[in-house]
Amino acid sequence: MKEKNISENKVKIYFHGASGEVTGSNYLLELEAGDGKKTKVLIDCGLYQGGKVCEDKNREPFPYDPASLDAVIVTHAHLDHIGRVPKLKKDGFKGKIYSTYPTKDFANLMLTDSLGVLTKEAAREGLELIYEEKDVQAAMAAWEAKEYEDGFTIGGLSFLLRDAGHILGSAIVEVKLAENADSKKIVFSGDLGNSPEPLLRETSRVKDANYLIIESTYGDRLHEDRAESDLKLERMIEDIVVKNGVLMIPAFSLERTQKILFQINNLIENGRIPKIPVFLDSPLSIKATMVYKGYSKYYNNDVKEIMLEDDDLFSFTGLVQTLETEESKSIANKPSPKIIIAGSGMLNGGRILHHAKKYLPDKNNVLLLVSYQAAGSLGRQLQEGAKAVSIMGETVPVLAKVAEMGGYSSHADANGLFSFVDHSADTLLKIFVAHGELKAGSFFAQRLKDYAGLDATVVKSGDCFEVEL
Ligand SMILES: [Zn+2]
Repeated sequence: MKEKNISENKVKIYFHGASGEVTGSNYLLELEAGDGKKTKVLIDCGLYQGGKVCEDKNREPFPYDPASLDAVIVTHAHLDHIGRVPKLKKDGFKGKIYSTYPTKDFANLMLTDSLGVLTKEAAREGLELIYEEKDVQAAMAAWEAKEYEDGFTIGGLSFLLRDAGHILGSAIVEVKLAENADSKKIVFSGDLGNSPEPLLRETSRVKDANYLIIESTYGDRLHEDRAESDLKLERMIEDIVVKNGVLMIPAFSLERTQKILFQINNLIENGRIPKIPVFLDSPLSIKATMVYKGYSKYYNNDVKEIMLEDDDLFSFTGLVQTLETEESKSIANKPSPKIIIAGSGMLNGGRILHHAKKYLPDKNNVLLLVSYQAAGSLGRQLQEGAKAVSIMGETVPVLAKVAEMGGYSSHADANGLFSFVDHSADTLLKIFVAHGELKAGSFFAQRLKDYAGLDATVVKSGDCFEVEL
């Protein structure tokens, strides 16, 4: 038998999306084993999202042949990480899709929900739909869930998912050679959490990464303290009660919405705010919250303790969940003060647009941004102080207060990212800084070079690097 020289195992890492930008995550790992056999695994296959839910470049063919891939590993269920998985199926992908259990459940919700939005958007612009319901079903049928820390093998590579603490079910992906437990390790951070999080466990520490692909969404910024954000939310609610206004919170359906519900639940249970109506006006958020309730085993210990006294962390007197469109429309007739939580988080679609159109022109109202606002989104325009915005073809004056609360971000800030890298400082050979706008990525890479003496490169879409495992 011919002995294989394991040190010759080279892995190419292709950066196809979320490189120099925050959306469209799509990385390809290609192992060329000593015997010439190839293993091709995709890490994430997300939508590009800016001003629209579906940017035109989502329609372009993939820069690789989907049929040639062995598998896809999904770090978490945000659309910019999973949104093109059905298109991959449609375009000929035949392998399996792997993720944690909550990610699989969320993916089913998110992909089905986004189909509705994509259908409307495609019809409005006279464009072809990027995938159909049958493609979502085919993707879900090929989806296999894994527990954290439960290793598995695809071709010549072995994989392990670890808790990223970003949203429920989010994972860091560790990659080694299947046949050599002592091989070097590639780590994909996915999106990293803003630990300590109110609900989730801390981001896992990876102490032995050799090659790291790390997100840099907030690579040049620090978040405000969570306690400060909690206080801000409390004051803001008190304020709209006094002014008889409306507090609009555009929120991502995963994590952000549950964190807000959890905090309002705490404020109400502790008698710190009056019991005013709170509308959870998002079918997706309502369903996602149900998924959260089924996975309390992944919560942190503090939350598990609270659950001994309060078995429903996301429900309180005054909460109204509006699943149907008619119920959503009726919110407009409900007297103020009131709180409306609705998607989408960056105001690039969803029911929040109807509320924004109605309530932005009134100075007694508040729009509270709790999420990252991508360049080109309506949320970003409002964040940057636009005095008037265009919503569904109408010019809407902005008189309402636009406030921000950074402490509820689900992303690690610059210090969180730095400390994640620092745990592996002794073993790291190369760091690829991805998933950030150029300024944030460059700033973060420079900091890694200057303060930790590490070899960090900001990747661009289309880049390919070869590493040896
Ligand atoms: Zn994410």
